[in-house]
Amino acid sequence: MNLSKSKALFEEAKKYIPGGVNSPVRAFRSVSTNPPFIQRGEGCRLYDVDGNEYIDYVGSWGPLILGHAHPRVAEALKDAVDRGTSYGAPTAIETEIAKVICEAVPSVEMVRMVNSGTEATMSALRLARGYTGRNMIVKFEGNYHGHSDSLLIKAGSGALTHGVPDSPGVPADIAKNTITARYNDIEGMKKIFEVYGKDIAAVIIEPVAGNMGVVPATQWYMNFLRDITVKYESLLIFDEVMTGFRVSFQGAQGLYGIKPDITCFGKIIGGGLPVGAYGGRRDIMFHMSPAGPIYQAGTLSGNPLAMTAGLTTLKILRNHPEIYRELEEKSKMLEEGLRENVSKLGIKASFNRVGSMLCMFFTEQEVVDYETALTSDTKKFSIYFEEMLKQGIYLAPSQFEAVFVSAAHRKEDIERTIEASYHALKKIV
Ligand code: PMP
Repeated sequence: MNLSKSKALFEEAKKYIPGGVNSPVRAFRSVSTNPPFIQRGEGCRLYDVDGNEYIDYVGSWGPLILGHAHPRVAEALKDAVDRGTSYGAPTAIETEIAKVICEAVPSVEMVRMVNSGTEATMSALRLARGYTGRNMIVKFEGNYHGHSDSLLIKAGSGALTHGVPDSPGVPADIAKNTITARYNDIEGMKKIFEVYGKDIAAVIIEPVAGNMGVVPATQWYMNFLRDITVKYESLLIFDEVMTGFRVSFQGAQGLYGIKPDITCFGKIIGGGLPVGAYGGRRDIMFHMSPAGPIYQAGTLSGNPLAMTAGLTTLKILRNHPEIYRELEEKSKMLEEGLRENVSKLGIKASFNRVGSMLCMFFTEQEVVDYETALTSDTKKFSIYFEEMLKQGIYLAPSQFEAVFVSAAHRKEDIERTIEASYHALKKIV
């Protein structure tokens, strides 16, 4: 596989950009391949600067549920750009997209647009703290909510201890207000609430985690979380940055039938442009400035180009519910094909999938939380990843990420992927 132009561009990039990339995972540090530099995307395909073509299962890390350069999204953007790129003043399209989100997701009665998932979760925490007058936050081991100080936290040593910074630069004074819980563990969460309940502003969860591979919370656990947060008057925040409009048009909360107090969005609602949002109960959202006293703002928030790409994407999804049915069919086909391959080759693997979010873990254990996810053989994953890339299948370069199927993948693409996976898997037998 020729990546010579990509290699040269990477070397040049490293001179001017830390690590050569604007987001760490793009550097392919967990595998030994050089990252391809991308020139163009179309449908489910990516094309790099060396002329290699890939079937893409990253989809820009989730936003591109309709595939790259969807003709209607591209057309709407071209039309919008001629009317100016930003006004810093209200526009009708902001209300239009807010309405579409509120109508789709019943727990969301009002919504505020921001520019990234990080901003959405960071602002949701400020709202939860301001609303409850409490400081402590509970998050889950292996869940990722962006890189704000309160959320870039790992577990302290032993259960029930205060969190510790997961990066230099996060003050311990901030980390101490974040408690890290084990995913799907009812008893652990009960203990946390017994000790800290009255100080907990919110529990934030990826309802279907996509940042430790794909790991869904159980229905049982979700019911419990809703009940215990109500009991202690803490807020329940769903981080649906990845799952929103992905696992269903109502997001993960539609699948679980649970109404969180606040929901964070990102990715799909921006249709490939930089967008995040947080929304929830009207009486809670009313505390945000300028309606209320809690401050949050953004020069480019509600940017007309981002709103255009997002609204066009959401309308297509709303008007074509068959997209979700087809995503389910294609993703199921991919899962079944992969399962058949590992079973033919006698490879130990375990699978989690919710709709078009899929993960094949190189472990024989059922993956239900961070600890079980970590039993995966990441060396095997790296070999698998590289062999897939050589065959033109572009996966996320880490075991602990999701495979995203898009509306642009055809059954033939899935078939080709399954066939490629058989050859790739043979290398790790
Ligand atoms: N929450 C979740 C669940 C995410 O997956 C991500 C990004 N992968 C974020 C928040 C952060 O979003 P962003 O990268 O747009 O800041």
